[in-house]
Amino acid sequence: MIPEDVESFLSNIEEQEIVEAIRIAEDHTSGEIRVHIENTCNANVEKRALEVFSNLKMYNTADRNGVLIYVAVNDHKFGIYGDKGINNVVPKDFWNTTKTIIENHFKTGDFKQGLVDGILHAGQQLKVHFPIMDNDIDELPNTISKG
Ligand code: CA
Ligand code: CA
Repeated sequence: MIPEDVESFLSNIEEQEIVEAIRIAEDHTSGEIRVHIENTCNANVEKRALEVFSNLKMYNTADRNGVLIYVAVNDHKFGIYGDKGINNVVPKDFWNTTKTIIENHFKTGDFKQGLVDGILHAGQQLKVHFPIMDNDIDELPNTISKG
């Protein structure tokens, strides 16, 4: 069955697995990852990801290294928005491999695994530029927000 809305998109257990993936990813990097899901996206998906990033105040990190994975469930669309601290130091195609991983799972309907693998991969990517420090704090909550 193809999930049609935010409520049926992920089960509680799947949501927990995603939150756990964020925690594991953030064990390796000072980057802060969040996931936002909503039913539809009226605008361009990248533009909407930026808007949600802003609404969630994800720019509130010391190194400006927050990353939002945004999913519009009904539209089967997703986007990744990384803050300017990341964009300043990475190539333009930085998120392409993460996007491909997510996309391949989404195509087969495995949304949970797409997000889990995407988050873990993003964590590995971020680690190169933003390694974890001894005094790391969890600057943004490891939660899935819903619009
Ligand atoms: Ca952190
Ligand atoms: Ca966090």
